[in-house]
Amino acid sequence: MNLLDYLPGVPDFPKPGILFRDISPLLANPAAFKEAIAQMEALAQSFDYTHILGIESRGFIFGSALAHHAHKGLALARKPNKLPLATHKEFYGLEYGSDYLEIQQSTLPAGAKVLLIDDVLATGGTLIAANKLLRNAGFEVCGAITLLEISFLNGRQLLDQHGIANKSVLV
Ligand code: IMP
Repeated sequence: MNLLDYLPGVPDFPKPGILFRDISPLLANPAAFKEAIAQMEALAQSFDYTHILGIESRGFIFGSALAHHAHKGLALARKPNKLPLATHKEFYGLEYGSDYLEIQQSTLPAGAKVLLIDDVLATGGTLIAANKLLRNAGFEVCGAITLLEISFLNGRQLLDQHGIANKSVLV
């Protein structure tokens, strides 16, 4: 099974010039989704982690399935103003815009070792923000796993420069 067949490119979304990889066909196919999680889990096994950080919103899908599968805790990095209690915040730039991520201060226990999960690695800005968010809050980040890396945007090089070990199922 070639998982890329289930991630068709949609031209000019959400802005002209961007080829957006749509994960909907993969999620709608039970065999493809199962295989994607199995392959992410295989990559995750090389990390010593206690918790997964799922990044809103598509990182929630893969992060929660992986946490369930690997029997790890799940923390959520959310877009602005979604969390009810006190948060840590980190601003970042995107391939198409800017935003900030928040994590609720009480979510992770002291000593948590966190693996970052998202669907796509593009420029790397999102994962770098998530990494800073957790490190500034005093947590250890073990690395990052994505389903797909868009290699021409050189996100991997940026993550390497920031010392974030990263692996993707598909490049
Ligand atoms: P980055 O911060 O530039 O690496 O972009 C990664 C973030 O943007 C992730 O949270 C992705 O969900 C989202 N993203 C960027 N490009 C795509 C795409 O082609 N398909 C789905 N999500 C994307």
